[in-house]
Amino acid sequence: MKIGAHLSTKNGFAKLPENANALGLRTYQFFSKNQMQWKARPLDKEEATAHSKAARSAGIGDEAIHASYLMNLGSPEDGKFKMSYDAFLDEIRRADQLGVSLLIFHPGAHMGSGPDKALKRIADAMNSAIKETKAMKVKLVVENTAGQGSMVGYSLDHLGYLAENSIDNERIGFCIDTCHAYQAGYDLSNEFHKFLSDFDSRVGLKLIRAFHLNDSKYPFNKHLDRHENLGKGTLSRSFYTDLFEEQKLANIPAFLETPEGEDGYPKDLEFLKSLGIKL
Ligand SMILES: [Zn+2]
Ligand SMILES: [Zn+2]
Repeated sequence: MKIGAHLSTKNGFAKLPENANALGLRTYQFFSKNQMQWKARPLDKEEATAHSKAARSAGIGDEAIHASYLMNLGSPEDGKFKMSYDAFLDEIRRADQLGVSLLIFHPGAHMGSGPDKALKRIADAMNSAIKETKAMKVKLVVENTAGQGSMVGYSLDHLGYLAENSIDNERIGFCIDTCHAYQAGYDLSNEFHKFLSDFDSRVGLKLIRAFHLNDSKYPFNKHLDRHENLGKGTLSRSFYTDLFEEQKLANIPAFLETPEGEDGYPKDLEFLKSLGIKL
């Protein structure tokens, strides 16, 4: 695992590699625009290039952008779907301009139309976006969900469907949020290796592009998306050692998204080190 975290962009995009370094992180995730608003002003070209250069010279190659929380590519409403799709394309183009190879997004919610219809809409949207951004390398990375509300993407079958129906597996992938997986009924605390082998057979291990490394505030399988600082939640200590010892995941980025953000990350890193994990 390459340890990273979600960072604030308050000092500008180009400062992110330096900020990550100062926190002892090897990579990072960020928002390229306000995640709670549809519209954003276009990126400043110079600023975007400055980020790309800074990331490359810091030797970081797997930073990620987290897409807007408003998007719902699974929406049964044409208007909402269209707004989401336009926002999705904009996020892909912004990632490309910023030199970021991973765009992590929540798959969406079916809003009563049922998971199957929503998953088909999401797969179609991903395929259209791949066609419309052919010249770009940005990977469209679906994050698994805790299964709250009518969100899809909580089960490996949902993720497997998206993988199977993609026109280009080089351009897609998955981000495993450890809190969400545990809340969705995958017992990472006791059966992490079983989870990985199930993921491999139903989705494909090589499609794991990133982790969101979060402890879970609530007990197993409650479908409640509340992150906790590492070691302070309901995930076992052995889960963390299993994860970091897994050689197949050695080069995969793992982004912290724990409470307190940048003020709390030092505690998370200390916890991992206390387990003998080398970061
Ligand atoms: Zn997310
Ligand atoms: Zn979450």
